[in-house]
Amino acid sequence: MSSILPNLLPDLELANRLFDDLRARSFDGVGITREAYGPGERMAHALVKEAAEAVGLECNPDPVGNLYMTLPGKNRQAKKVLLGSHLDSVPQGGNFDGAVGVLAGLAAVAGLKRAGFVPERDITIIATRAEEAGAWFPTSYPGSRGALGRLKAEELEVKRQDSGRSLADHMKEEGFDPSFAARGEVVVSPENTAAFLEVHIEQGPVLDAEEIPVAIVTGIPGSRRLRQGRVLGEYNHSGGTPRKYRKDAAIALAELAVRLDDRWAALEMQGHKLVVTFCTLATTAEAGFTKIPGEATFMLDVRSVNPASVDAIFDELAKAVPEIEARRGVKFDLGPETGSKSAPMDAEIQAGLARSAEALAIPHLSMASGGGHDAAAFAAAGIPSAMLFVRNQHGSHNPHEAMRPEDFGEACRVVTHWLAEIAG
Ligand SMILES: [Zn+2]
Repeated sequence: MSSILPNLLPDLELANRLFDDLRARSFDGVGITREAYGPGERMAHALVKEAAEAVGLECNPDPVGNLYMTLPGKNRQAKKVLLGSHLDSVPQGGNFDGAVGVLAGLAAVAGLKRAGFVPERDITIIATRAEEAGAWFPTSYPGSRGALGRLKAEELEVKRQDSGRSLADHMKEEGFDPSFAARGEVVVSPENTAAFLEVHIEQGPVLDAEEIPVAIVTGIPGSRRLRQGRVLGEYNHSGGTPRKYRKDAAIALAELAVRLDDRWAALEMQGHKLVVTFCTLATTAEAGFTKIPGEATFMLDVRSVNPASVDAIFDELAKAVPEIEARRGVKFDLGPETGSKSAPMDAEIQAGLARSAEALAIPHLSMASGGGHDAAAFAAAGIPSAMLFVRNQHGSHNPHEAMRPEDFGEACRVVTHWLAEIAG
């Protein structure tokens, strides 16, 4: 088998044409907007489906809207190999976050098909839905978890941030069936799927700094998040209220932020790897000049591959809050907590990807993911899962997000080689 592998080249022209089409059709004047369960994502799924049909793949959506594009294997009963990512984006985001995983799959599978390669088992590209849930729906990976039978009925009622309407409503509007997810029915499972691979831009500076085109991901972080944190103090005149009579909500919140930042630094010194972000720290509309802030709001996002590192920050939070309340006369209302579990990536697939990269003389390194990805949902469902990062510039979730076509090409070559090995 390996003697024919050098002839198996991904169809990069196909992928590059689709990147251009996606960009042209979802440019919002500043960046790229592909709304989850909305017009942008609908356009992207239709575009990719048309291209996959032209390649000759079997295309089917599932009841919650994920799209499957299959190159049939000789044994259709054998567990399939699944690879893909999402096609939605954050508002005014970049063109590559998510789309890279779907188009790398298409490029690789189109290349296999062009070479006349018939796999032993089905190879299926999946385009998931609503991965950028943080930007649209306050829940994690609703599309992939809907296919895995792991989306809870109450999560279908979360409201999209811009429209105020529920996930179930938006699913129905796109022609899908949220009751399928509510019943916990399953499309993708460890019984029918041998492996899941997600190719994704790195979204960070490591590969660019190290001058390496791809990385094999060791794990995806879990998170604990507070989206509706509040501190209640007392509005008062800034001139007439001496220090000891103040109940300053903004300073109380600032103290909490500095305290958690100090704890993060201390944990890092001990070898913990985590990130702690106060995504917002704000006074409210009633605040103004010559007033002591009587209310402040915040969002907190804590992530690590190691749950103990995340818990250590929340332990510090639990200790700090009553102390700051007592000393500053304020009340913290942390609101509901959301989050997701961390997911280690499958060791065997990591080794297989490393073998493919080495066979092709493509430099690579191993690293943990910074962000969350659909692969975490597949891993949590018990499907051996892995990720391949592509070097990119200017992060992601912003209009300046960039990726060199040659780096994407290297990733596609690794994927094509790996597919021929695992499905061959
Ligand atoms: Zn993504």
